[in-house]
Amino acid sequence: MNNNLEEKRIALLPLRGLLIFPRMSIHLDVGRDKSIRAVDYSILERGSLIFLAAQKEFNVEEPTEDDIFTIGTVAKIKQNLNLPNGRIRIMIEGLYRARVVEYIDNPNHFEVIYEPLAEHPGLGIETVALGRMVLRMFNTYLTNANVPVPEAATALLSAEEPDEISDLVASFLQIKLAERQELLEILSVHERLERLYSHLTEEAEIYEVEKVISERVKRQMDKTQKDYYLREQIKAIHKELGERDAMFSDIMQMQERLDELAAPPEVKEKIAKEIARLERMPGSAAESVVIYNYLDWLFNLPWLTETAEEIDIERAERTLDADHYGLEKAKERVLEYLSVQKLVGKLKGPILCLVGPPGVGKTSLAKSVAHSIGRKLVRISLGGVRDESEIRGHRRTYVGAMPGRIIQGMKNAGTINPVFVLDEIDKINSDFRGDPASALLEVLDPEQNNSFSDHYVELPYDLSKVMFITTANSVHTIPKPLLDRMEIIELSGYTELEKLQIAKNFLLPKNLEAHGLNKSRLKISDEALRRIISEYTREAGVRNLERELAKICRKAAKIIVSGGQKNISVGEKNLEKFLGKPRYRYGLMEKENQVGAATGLAWTAVGGDTLTVEAGIVPGKGKLILTGQLGDVMKESATAAFSYIRGRVREFAIDPDFAEKNDIHIHVPEGAIPKDGPSAGITIAIALISALTGRPVLRTVGMTGEITLRGRVLPIGGLREKVLAAHRAGLTTIILPKENQKDLEEIPAEVKETMNFVLVEDLDQVIAKAMVK
Ligand code: ADP
Repeated sequence: MNNNLEEKRIALLPLRGLLIFPRMSIHLDVGRDKSIRAVDYSILERGSLIFLAAQKEFNVEEPTEDDIFTIGTVAKIKQNLNLPNGRIRIMIEGLYRARVVEYIDNPNHFEVIYEPLAEHPGLGIETVALGRMVLRMFNTYLTNANVPVPEAATALLSAEEPDEISDLVASFLQIKLAERQELLEILSVHERLERLYSHLTEEAEIYEVEKVISERVKRQMDKTQKDYYLREQIKAIHKELGERDAMFSDIMQMQERLDELAAPPEVKEKIAKEIARLERMPGSAAESVVIYNYLDWLFNLPWLTETAEEIDIERAERTLDADHYGLEKAKERVLEYLSVQKLVGKLKGPILCLVGPPGVGKTSLAKSVAHSIGRKLVRISLGGVRDESEIRGHRRTYVGAMPGRIIQGMKNAGTINPVFVLDEIDKINSDFRGDPASALLEVLDPEQNNSFSDHYVELPYDLSKVMFITTANSVHTIPKPLLDRMEIIELSGYTELEKLQIAKNFLLPKNLEAHGLNKSRLKISDEALRRIISEYTREAGVRNLERELAKICRKAAKIIVSGGQKNISVGEKNLEKFLGKPRYRYGLMEKENQVGAATGLAWTAVGGDTLTVEAGIVPGKGKLILTGQLGDVMKESATAAFSYIRGRVREFAIDPDFAEKNDIHIHVPEGAIPKDGPSAGITIAIALISALTGRPVLRTVGMTGEITLRGRVLPIGGLREKVLAAHRAGLTTIILPKENQKDLEEIPAEVKETMNFVLVEDLDQVIAKAMVK
């Protein structure tokens, strides 16, 4: 579709029993799902423009293209309101006549390409005169009809332009839909006015006749009918009065609440103003719902209420220790941060950001912080937030408008100084709907956040007493300006031993209690726990581990309740009865030294793992074949390793023509998990050299490092997780880039003691250590 056509794409709203002329504004209630979707689409995607066309038959509930007139009106949606019954009320203004050129296939709602229709302006003075005559006739028509003249119609009586007169009169006239459609389709203004004039004169004649008849009938109307009529009127009056009474008592209540409300003066003023608006409004007005909602928010937001501030470092330390095993560095940093806050006297300065893989305790650490300083805790997740309005809310004129998540969080907190956790801050996106990151900046910036502006609330809101803690899986995707304002605390994955301790001392007791069990009723042996850790979960944190433990608790509870056994112990043997077959197989060391296969170390979102790289030589024409779901970066590494070896055939004593006569196949097996990253470079090279020379690779060696074309070894990331995986697999030697030496500090001592680390700078050193002499 070219651009021009794209611009002329628009949602179509089929109208039943009415149509809209240009220049005419009306309220319309929309109820059909398809139509509601059309309205939403128009507001969100098409600048509120929408194509209105009448349905040929009133009764058709699900019209098709053929049931809808092709000529209609392009209109603008000026306002919309959610009605309580799931319908929406929109106010629209007709803009110009248009024709449907074609329907676009769209299952959600009608969508069309349209073409605007130009009007023929008229015959100058003659048309002006005709316009005035029509107006005069219309005036009589209104008087005769003896109904209160609609406001818009009074405005019309002062209209002057013939085209304006023709459309406005046409829209107020009580005529059949088919006739209206005809009027809409006539493009000549003059012709339209003629048609209207003849219609109005006809109406005037009918009126005269009607008058005669009705006078005759009136005299016959007897007393009983009159009484009935009066009674109906009284009923209506009562009903209206009742509604207003209910509203008055609501308003009284709100006044009382307002007097007691602890809030800054400008907030109270705003509330008073809105209450006054409500008072002036008829009880049934749709807008009153909007005001009620708004007032509800203002009343329920904390404006001044605080929990008492007390930062007791010792108590905080005790709480953090009691809730978490290990995490020494993170706890230390948190305590330092709290100490500074205490000295400074108030919370200003960088925001804490806890970074690490899922399930390592970020959220629970934040919870502990709140608990330890006696504050309320609220949490929102920013994952997938791409719209600024999710942070800042929608203006009240929007259908179903709500405040943004920050204000919603504050309402839940009920105090102005909670600990506010913003989860997954690395997962926000920005696109054309505005940049949520910049709204967040305003939230997190201590210089600005004492007057945060939410589109819905409309009043400045003070966030300066909130203690924000953010969490993220990695720092790389956090927008830079946000990152600058945060103090990063990294939590890395746990070793198997740490997981065992956490399971024994924290997760199991917690879950026993939650399931109404205790230590004597359900025992799980260390061996069983170890198996759960290595064969039923594969993660850097302990979230799935906790889930598996909960599963055992549930099963045990069931057995006990059904009277099967009084107490249960789960060991290595009967574990499968509770959890089923093991789910994972960790990479384990090969049984013998292999030719053409080398063990690499990988780092994924769920922690580290070992991976075997296989290289094979098959007769062919020098192609490099790569298989095993490799990402682009890994493919490049393989190509680099291949080129490096081709440049060194003599040194390795390989047949110099090997590449002309053979294809090289590199494969990385294991579970169709996508693999990427440059750190398998040296592993690929070693597997290849082994395949070409026939020299076996030592089975106890694991290696990681990027390779350059000249055989240099470059540093890699995630060393800690990789080493833990190697340890688990039973490897004893790790070859790693020299530049990663500093990362060795992070390896837990219990692992470091059992392993041999070889730091290398080029591939020759790798060959010397990794291959059989
Ligand atoms: P995250 O927010 O990092 O994804 P959570 O805070 O939700 O992780 O942690 C998952 C579960 O593991 C929680 O029940 C938490 O209490 C527990 N947990 C994580 N780390 C530890 C630890 N070091 N000591 C005790 N429990 C922990």
